[in-house]
Amino acid sequence: MQNLPGKPRRLNLLWLQSGGCGGCTLSLIGAESPDLLTALDIAGIDLAWHPSLSEATGFELHELLARLISGEEPLDILCLEGSVIRGPRGTGRFHMLSGSERPMKDLIADLAPLANHVVAVGTCAAFGGITAAGDNPSDACGLVYDGREPGGLLGPRFRARSGLPVINVSGCPVHPGWVVETFLQLAGGTLTEADLDGIGRPRFYADHLVHHGCTRNEFYEFKASARNLSEMGCMMEHLGCMGTQVHADCNIRLWNGEGSCTRGGYPCISCTEPGFEELDHPFTLTPKRAGIPVGLPTDMPKAWFVALASLSKAATPERLRKNAVADHIVVPPVGRQGKPQK
Ligand code: SF4
Ligand code: SF4
Repeated sequence: MQNLPGKPRRLNLLWLQSGGCGGCTLSLIGAESPDLLTALDIAGIDLAWHPSLSEATGFELHELLARLISGEEPLDILCLEGSVIRGPRGTGRFHMLSGSERPMKDLIADLAPLANHVVAVGTCAAFGGITAAGDNPSDACGLVYDGREPGGLLGPRFRARSGLPVINVSGCPVHPGWVVETFLQLAGGTLTEADLDGIGRPRFYADHLVHHGCTRNEFYEFKASARNLSEMGCMMEHLGCMGTQVHADCNIRLWNGEGSCTRGGYPCISCTEPGFEELDHPFTLTPKRAGIPVGLPTDMPKAWFVALASLSKAATPERLRKNAVADHIVVPPVGRQGKPQK
């Protein structure tokens, strides 16, 4: 769409993919109410290029990149999906820009300082993510983080032309609503550094915990715990759920309008956090010391938690104790007359 005289200039958005699975794009195109293209249009953002959504390939992309790098065309929003690939031995040659002799990491490093805003879409682009797991043979990292350590490709002092740091919209995959809301705020000029948390995530989703709004909260309160996946109880005590420590609004801003990991019967594995790919325990197993889960809520003294947990366990109603280890309600709530409601 063209910029019209007298109207605010439409912004352009370039989306690059490097060391990832493409799952963040798949998630993003599931955006609803409105869909992605409508949301971009409302925000006044034009897709300059996206590997899955644009028709232009090959020469046309190379010409666009040349115009952006020369400054002939401004670059408003640069998005990276997937981690930055630095290997082998710092050359970046494990991922070359198709049809060129340029490592993607060099292209990203050239474009980032020219962009008004730089957005890391997904945990790979933010922190390295799954691609950086294990021995990390491709030497994958995030834009300004290498796992939990500041650094990455651009370094912690990097600022885009707007003065904002890299905006880390982490998640594996990212929630489409987090990306769309970030774009809307950037287009409206309302996203400031104060709206980002300590590791660059937009606070509109990172100021929440996955635990907030989880349908298993009543089981959590009485420490009525599931022992196996598919059971209804809280998954913190035995099944590795990290929802009380993980920053995201997954149980408030549901996925596809109705779901979340915990609602689907799977524990929160902390995919919005740096280093989630290298937890020191299997995803579905709670690490314990002397029978007490190691990963307790971060802002509660451990002794208090343990005291309250034993008190609530002693008071667990039979309904919750039995339902916690069942895959459907076996004991319904009683009515005011002491009988199950019909
Ligand atoms: S963050 Fe997850 S979903 Fe997104 S590209 Fe990386 S591995 Fe794929
Ligand atoms: S399953 Fe996880 S998110 Fe849900 S109540 Fe238990 S600890 Fe919280």
